[in-house]
Amino acid sequence: MSDTTFDLTPPTEEQMTHLIAGLDEQERRVLLEHGTEAPFCGTFLNEKREGVFTCRLCGLPLFGGGTKFESGTGWPSFTAPFADGHLSYIRDTSYGMVRTEIVCARCGAHQGHVFDDGPPPTGQRYCINSVSLAFTPKGEPLPDRLGRGEPEGMAVGDRPGA
Ligand SMILES: [Zn+2]
Repeated sequence: MSDTTFDLTPPTEEQMTHLIAGLDEQERRVLLEHGTEAPFCGTFLNEKREGVFTCRLCGLPLFGGGTKFESGTGWPSFTAPFADGHLSYIRDTSYGMVRTEIVCARCGAHQGHVFDDGPPPTGQRYCINSVSLAFTPKGEPLPDRLGRGEPEGMAVGDRPGA
């Protein structure tokens, strides 16, 4: 089930190689090896502008700025994904806990975890690593890292149906 107008076809192996080559060591550790950044040091912790948070690796919009809230955990937190189908949910039993890991549905890059102790209206808390995300302020064009075209590469807020 997906209500998205974005092309969710995974990147080709060649595109993945190219995208991964652009990552630094910490980004690789989090995005590809399911690591977690230290709390209270992420770049987007205090980002409060309107806009869209996209996957650092493939550029797919994952969260809208309007769903971000101050969770006090030290990681950027959101109440809802950008669109159905943009995130994949994986049962994670590491560290003796049962958690739900979330990854980008398009490229598989690790984003964080989702918990059901969030605020209204969804009651969900999407706890995300800053290094897993990039931010596009409202009015600026979304990244189009895979050359997919519209709605990628279009200004945030100008998308049809946005
Ligand atoms: Zn991605």
